[in-house]
Formats: sequence, structure tokens, C-alpha cells
Amino acid sequence: MAIATINPTTGETVRTFPELSESEIERKIGLAHERWRTYRETGFDERAEWMRAGADLLEQEADTAARLMTTEMGKTLAAARGEALKCARGMRYYADNAAEFLADEPLADPSAVGARRALSRYRPLGPVLAVMPWNFPMWQVMRFAAPALMAGNVGLLKHASNVPQCALYLEDVFRRGGFPEGCFQTLLISSGRVEEILRDPRVVAATLTGSEPAGRSVAAICGDEVKHTVLELGGSDPFVVMPSADLDRAVETAVDARVQNNGQSCIAAKRFIVHSDVYDAFTDRFVAGMRALTVGDPFDPATDVGPLATEQGRAGVEELVDEAVARGAKVLCGGRRPDGPGWFYPPTVISDITRDMRIFTEEVFGPVAALYRAADIEEALEIANATAFGLGSNAWTRDEAEQERFIADLDAGQVFINGKTVSYPDLPFGGVKRSGYGRELSAHGIREFCNLKTVWIG
Ligand code: NDP
Repeated sequence: MAIATINPTTGETVRTFPELSESEIERKIGLAHERWRTYRETGFDERAEWMRAGADLLEQEADTAARLMTTEMGKTLAAARGEALKCARGMRYYADNAAEFLADEPLADPSAVGARRALSRYRPLGPVLAVMPWNFPMWQVMRFAAPALMAGNVGLLKHASNVPQCALYLEDVFRRGGFPEGCFQTLLISSGRVEEILRDPRVVAATLTGSEPAGRSVAAICGDEVKHTVLELGGSDPFVVMPSADLDRAVETAVDARVQNNGQSCIAAKRFIVHSDVYDAFTDRFVAGMRALTVGDPFDPATDVGPLATEQGRAGVEELVDEAVARGAKVLCGGRRPDGPGWFYPPTVISDITRDMRIFTEEVFGPVAALYRAADIEEALEIANATAFGLGSNAWTRDEAEQERFIADLDAGQVFINGKTVSYPDLPFGGVKRSGYGRELSAHGIREFCNLKTVWIG
């Protein structure tokens, strides 16, 4: 894929960027390595000052940052502005909390191990490669970069090929915030160049957010090199609605959760599993809600759903819907791409899904909801867990025993009861099964790329 800004609203190529040459990559990795030797000795206060200055810039320039995101990947301008501000909040969160999260952990009774003093100390690892996707082109990067830099690591970003301007902008934010040159560098490279970087001994670990094949490739190379990885891959999150649910809120949240980011979020609710007692009531209102959305230019404040980010992405969504329909699924709304320029796809609801359809097992990365009917909680859980993914999950019920059951038995990294799955800086974020491993955000996220050193002093 060429490194280029291609406006998904029009299909027009706005700007292309040359890939870095071999010697430019070498220079940047060398700089990262050299910089890390001095940067790791800076204090939390100093790093926090640069981080907060970066956050100030993102807040002041939220409109500019938002326009870059909307131009490159088509999310609505309001959502893009929200994303820029969320990045700033994430930066402040780690500026405020990193020192506490990474404080020494002394052993209460060192004599138990024959020491005068014993403790665990978090030390940075070194240059970390982040392979990132286009769907939240600033937040996905920031939730790696803010904790990694606060911990004393340095970052190398290989961003998705369709969001180069977002990638360069983030590098600029860190530089203008005051981080020394080389602390955070964007590498404009295609995915074919990732392996040589992962195999470079100066690059010590990697994080990837994206598809399963990309994650598998990065993890395999890092496994071969014995380098730590964090993987945040796809999801096909269940959204279970039980009879005691507040149906108004459940329906409103279901619509919002499915079409957020034009349907391209790993933690979007994708499979709606509804108890028979409320299935018809939920379905009528949910379909009405999806139909009422305005699809159009993401720069227009009246738009709810913009285009999909790439032409291939839309083709992938279309294929899954068409295959399901050919096998007997029912389209309750949407289901057909509009004529005209841009990679638009309408909010769509499908029912009567059977297990031989690809849509049953694969992630749909677009505004398409799959509806399932469940006779009871056992069947709801069975359908919810009948997926290779395990990222987020939602259950709607006011019954406390049912809530506990969902918390215990939904196979997912996150369970949200009576609310939408959201990534908050304060809560750990990550998955199980084929959604990946490791955790981002919270205290857990900043510790992923640290060497927890055991210290014993006799
Ligand atoms: P990819 O996984 O292909 O892209 C994500 C990042 O990985 C990009 O930077 C990409 O670079 C890079 N990459 C791709 N292949 C490799 C590889 N073999 N080795 C190293 N890096 C690689 O996602 P797509 O954009 O193609 O989307 C495909 C599907 O992935 C979506 O439909 C969705 O299901 C899932 N996805 C999930 C996301 C999430 O948030 N969990 C985010 C994005 C996608 P380049 O752009 O240069 O190819």
C-alpha cells in the first residue's frame, strides 16, 4: 500500500509520501538507541512537563488535528475533535500518575529472603516499535506513547499507510512539547519493512494494534527474537440484552456503539444477542434508530456516519453482508452501498444468521449489526462466547445475579454492564483469545514495557 492521504469521502489522493530509505531507517534507529541512553536518566517531573506541554498543544490545536484525522480516515469532525482531546487527557493522566505507578515496591520483611533491603524496581526497556492502525489514528498511538515515554522508553511509530499526516503530526507534538529529539519518531515505511526493524537488536519490544494476520506476523518475529510484545487485535463484541434491561438506554447505546467511528472500532458492539421476551421490542426500535442516522460528509456537523476509511475496507464489509444474504440472512435495514464517490456504507441490521455464514465468525469492520435471538441466559452466553475473539463485551440487565453471571462467564478482556465499552486511561484495556494479549492503559499499561528488576541488598 502506498503511503498516502486518500480522502475516503471523495476517493481523491490528496498527498503521497516517499518511503524512508534504508539509510534513513538506520539513522532513525541509531538516534532512538542513542537518545534512550540519556533519556532514561531523566526524571518523572521533567518527562511530565514535556508531556503536559504536548497535551496543551493538542488541546490548542484540536481543530487542526481533527481535520487531519477526518481527511485521512473519514471519522466525523466531532469524533475526531473528541479523539484529539482524549489524547491530551491520556497524556495528562500518565504525566500525573507515572511516578506512582512505577514507584519502587519494597518487600515488607526483607529478612525473609536474608536481605537488609529487597525491592522491585521498574526500569525502562529501550526503543519500542509501535505498529498502529488508522481507525483511531491519534488515540491508538497515544495510549502506547504516553505511558511508554513516561516510563523512560523511546518510541518508533510505524503507522498505517493511509494516515501519514496524523503520524507526522504526533511526532511534531512530542518534539514541540519539549521531548529531546529521537524520543518519538515516525517511520514512514510499508509493512514489508517491519521485520528488519523488529530484528534490529537496538529495538527491544513491539506493540501492535490491528488485524490478526498483522499481529501474528509481528508476534512470530518477536518470538523468534525473544522480544516482548503487546497485541491488541480485532473484536466481535457481544451486546446482550436481557428482559430486565432498561430498553430505552440499551437501544440508544446499541446504535451509538455499533456506528461509532463509522462502525470501525475494535470495541464496537457487533453482535446483538437479545432475549426472546424483548427481541421484537428491541429489534423494532434498534432498526428505527439505525435507519434514522444521517450518512454523509464527515465534515458536515449534521452527519452521524461518514465513509469507511478505505476502499478495501468497504469491499470487505460488503462481501460479508452479501455472503450472509446469499445464505438466507435477512436485511432489516441498509445492506446496499450508495452510488456516488466515497467509500460509504449505510447502517445495516441483519437477522436470521446461521453458523455457516462468515459473518458469524468474522469481525465486521463497518456499521453492520448482526442480530441473534436467545431463549435464556445460557443460550445468550453460548452465542456470546462462540467467537474466536475476546476483546470487549456488554450485557444489559438489572438483575444482580445475571450481572455476576456475565462478569464471570463472558470470555472477554472487558465486561461492561448497562453501558458502552469505552477505553478510559484509568482502566486496563486488552483482550483474550484471538483479540490479543497484554494490557494497555492504567497502571498495567505502563508496566508492560518495563523491566521489573528484583533488587536484593545484603
Ligand atoms: P492491518 O492489521 O493490516 O493494519 C494495521 C497496522 O499493521 C498498519 O500499520 C499496517 O501497515 C500494519 N501491518 C499490516 N500487515 C502487517 C504485517 N504483516 N507486519 C507488520 N505490520 C503489518 O489492518 P487493516 O487496515 O488492513 O484492516 C484489516 C482488518 O483488521 C479490519 O477489517 C479489522 O478487522 C482489523 N483491524 C482492527 C483494528 C483494531 O482496532 N483492533 C484496527 C484496524 C484493523 P500498512 O497500513 O502499511 O499495511
